[in-house]
Amino acid sequence: MKVTEHFEQSKGNTLVSFEILPPLKGGGVQAIFDTLDPLMEFKPPFIDVTYHREEFLYKKRQSGYYEKIAIRKRPGTVGICASIMHRYGIDAIPHLICGGFTKEETENALIDLNFLSINNVLALRGDARPFETKFSPEKDGHEFAIDLVRQMADMNKGIYLDDNIENGQKTDFCIGIAGYPEKHFESPNLETDLIFTKEKVKAGADYIVTQMFFDNEQFKGYLKNCKDFGIDVPIVPGLKPITRRYQLSALPRRFFVDLPSDLVKALEKAKTDEAVREVGIEWCIMQSKELKAMGVPCLHYYTMGDSETIKRIAEAVY
Ligand code: FAD
Repeated sequence: MKVTEHFEQSKGNTLVSFEILPPLKGGGVQAIFDTLDPLMEFKPPFIDVTYHREEFLYKKRQSGYYEKIAIRKRPGTVGICASIMHRYGIDAIPHLICGGFTKEETENALIDLNFLSINNVLALRGDARPFETKFSPEKDGHEFAIDLVRQMADMNKGIYLDDNIENGQKTDFCIGIAGYPEKHFESPNLETDLIFTKEKVKAGADYIVTQMFFDNEQFKGYLKNCKDFGIDVPIVPGLKPITRRYQLSALPRRFFVDLPSDLVKALEKAKTDEAVREVGIEWCIMQSKELKAMGVPCLHYYTMGDSETIKRIAEAVY
């Protein structure tokens, strides 16, 4: 079923969903089930699975020279989606990025998803790789997420890249995109970011999942801005509890988000690792309850492999 249909059927109740990462290469699918099994009691209608582009490593050879090698540390997004659907009988949403794919490879990946009856996809651009200063697409790849959205919207009309195809099968993708309550870090300002987000919706995006945020006022402001800009698709807040002290600086650095002063003060007062985790959990529960009371369509938790923490939060909220 499409994500948007889940929202329609929920009749105003706030659903819950989880995002997981594929295990590191060499790991097994059981690690995924170990994360998800404890969360199934909350009846998530769908699970998101992230996609990870290849990275480059430098390996020292016997000659003393370093060789640059490409490695994908977390492959398996599509296989994991199929396993989730098979084991739990719920929808799984692969993230698909522009980075690392030519347009033709993207088309082939989408054809595979269609054959697997995976009809929901979160369409993203992806980030620059660690050694790059800015995102660079493949030669003949997409530069922005909107190009990927357009390609999927075309396939939904039966239009494929190969113009020899006549009467191509129409896919039925429900297309999710990313949104940034505190703006995407490359955008010159919030307004420009919203203009591009609106373009993605006009191109065919069906719903938005937001970057994590720690101040619900940011999300409320984002909802209002989207409304003012005529962005009328469902907007799902993404939530991540802070569980470790280093995240005080790591999360703003990695995700370009602000932490509210009250949260920072409470975390600084916490003396032990366990106390830090408790503060993070309580904060996330508080955010979740308020968002649920506002009637958001779904609360989307970034699990990052920590199902125990997410379970505690979901228990308090649902
Ligand atoms: P875009 O929509 O392409 O936007 C990127 C930037 O370009 C923005 O600043 C935007 O304002 C600007 N822009 C957009 N269109 C244009 C245009 N036509 N001309 C000029 N500028 C433009 N990354 C992964 O690698 N794997 C994942 O699984 C993954 N999952 C994610 C899930 C969520 C919910 C979120 C919020 C992010 C996720 N990301 C993931 C990270 C994401 O790939 C990065 O945030 C990336 O930097 C931007 O992706 P985007 O789809 O928002 O890009």
